[in-house]
Amino acid sequence: MQEQDGKGTGADRQCQGLTKAGARCLFPALLDGSGHCFVHSPTTAAQRRAASRKGGLRTAQKRSALVGQIDFESPEGIRSFLEGLTVAAITEAIPSGRARDVAAIAEVALRVRAGAEAEARLDAIETALQRLVEKRSAQDGGSAQ
Ligand SMILES: [Zn+2]
Repeated sequence: MQEQDGKGTGADRQCQGLTKAGARCLFPALLDGSGHCFVHSPTTAAQRRAASRKGGLRTAQKRSALVGQIDFESPEGIRSFLEGLTVAAITEAIPSGRARDVAAIAEVALRVRAGAEAEARLDAIETALQRLVEKRSAQDGGSAQ
């Protein structure tokens, strides 16, 4: 999972875009395969251009473009999201109160995910136990009854 060549792992995950000052962008790349962060991704850039033409709708469209990039289904998606949030908070791209709110939401997403995983494991254990009990009762002369 870590060793695959190509996009998406480790240090490669840094955005390939450049800042206005010409330095390498420090944001983590999105999982959309573009190799760019939410600021530089062509996926969100098109939406941002459309949004800036429309002035008033700009912020709302920017936000909905970001919402489309959120992946709380996979641990990688949650990690990527938290990385982006961390950079945004450190660089003060978003107000600290907003960062805390969003971090709290991400924490809930993590808990929901952990809960779903625990449930799946419990199901597997129950099934295995059930099979064991059935096997036992068949061996212990369950057929004599
Ligand atoms: Zn970038």
